[in-house]
Amino acid sequence: MNIVIIGAGYVGLVSGACFSEFGFNVMCVDHNDNRIEDLNMGKIPIYEPGLDKLVEKNVLAKRLKFSVKLPENFQNIDAVFIAVGTPSILGKRKVELSYVFDAVKDIAKNINVDDNPILIVTKSTVPVGTSRKIEEVIQDFRPDLKPVKNFNIASNPEFLREGSAIEDFMRPDRVICGTESDSARTILQELYRPLNLRETPIIFTSIETAELIKYASNSFLATKITFINEIADICEKIGADVQQVAKGIGLDKRIGLKYLHPGPGFGGSCFPKDTRALVEIGKQIKTRIRIVESVILSNEERKLNMVKKIQKSVGDLSKKNIAILGITFKPNTDDMRDSPSLVIVPELVRLCNNVKIYDPVGMENARKMEQFKNVSWCTDTFACIRGTDAMVIITEWNEFRALDLNKVKSVLKNPLVIDLRNIYREEQMKSAGIRYISIGRGKIES
Ligand code: NAD
Repeated sequence: MNIVIIGAGYVGLVSGACFSEFGFNVMCVDHNDNRIEDLNMGKIPIYEPGLDKLVEKNVLAKRLKFSVKLPENFQNIDAVFIAVGTPSILGKRKVELSYVFDAVKDIAKNINVDDNPILIVTKSTVPVGTSRKIEEVIQDFRPDLKPVKNFNIASNPEFLREGSAIEDFMRPDRVICGTESDSARTILQELYRPLNLRETPIIFTSIETAELIKYASNSFLATKITFINEIADICEKIGADVQQVAKGIGLDKRIGLKYLHPGPGFGGSCFPKDTRALVEIGKQIKTRIRIVESVILSNEERKLNMVKKIQKSVGDLSKKNIAILGITFKPNTDDMRDSPSLVIVPELVRLCNNVKIYDPVGMENARKMEQFKNVSWCTDTFACIRGTDAMVIITEWNEFRALDLNKVKSVLKNPLVIDLRNIYREEQMKSAGIRYISIGRGKIES
């Protein structure tokens, strides 16, 4: 089968590489010519473990190609996937859909009325109703084109996680396909057939249901994280251990252990914007989704509360130098979008004498951002923490998990570690002579 994917970002590039690994011919199209130039020279524009090898292998096998332009006709193409960004409109809950509709118009331009209908699949996360709107956009733009006769629409939301995207694409918990067209169903079944071996459930739904599943899924996960964060706050007041609470509730199969790790608040390119969008979707149809409204508020507050926690542990920050380890929203990605560090770091910069930062891969993207304007960048962990008054872990990169704590103690000016991801244990720190503050594990000293 031959497919085209529009958008060669975290989702488009990973999906393209994985579909080509399944044996299909894939063309990834992106209007960012630098990105395509890089890809054509073998340079991967994002950090995602294993992606470089997968891309290289499939490019060599001639199954994976990159271009700034869509093919001129779709005669031999079975499906065109849209995997462009759908960020929040700045400062609003609404979703920016112009990238999607631009891509749709580009597709419409190249549809030949005499060819078989082309299948247009939305992989981007889009508000309920967008895939239907795509039909209208096409017909406004090309009144000679008719649904079913010239094109079919499907929604196939993506659930991969950055940092483990290839594994998630290759071994998903489920695949969701929303479509009312039999031919679309046949094509999608064929494209996901390689997952049959793993008995992956492939669920066919209406288009609206598929679109909503994506938002409901992300909002539910964001709610779980926020819930355990608030339970962690209670633990700090009453002297309980949130790790044990999480295990105690998570072993109940109705709840499950995943996404019950307390931290500095959720971030990334999906949960913040998708929770906002679900609230907006509800608002448009006069159906409030109060639980998600609270999740958003709680998460916003949490990031600032992390600064207060640091302040409370260190004391007056004005003459203090603070070391930050990890600024990406999670490990194994260079994605800085909506990372909690974007709130925590500027606030610390405002309050402290100096903020030093080290992140294994996030610094290149962060250097370009306003929020990191006045920080000191470091080349490794020990250069970062040397001479500082506290070491703060924001992102749990593997390389921070097993530091030589005696060395940590010897280079810190003040032996204090504030671990916002709970990757260490109190006893380890105590035996190295380090004061240790974590999240929700016993009463917090004032
Ligand atoms: P991204 O910003 O990394 O990539 C989007 C790419 O699309 C960019 O390279 C951009 O240049 C390109 N693009 C935009 N408009 C275009 C157009 N008209 N023609 C050609 N190229 C165009 O975005 P992403 O993180 O891959 O997310 C894509 C979608 O997938 C979003 O809707 C997102 O919510 C969803 N999603 C993302 C993740 C994730 O972890 N990143 C997971 C699941 C779903």
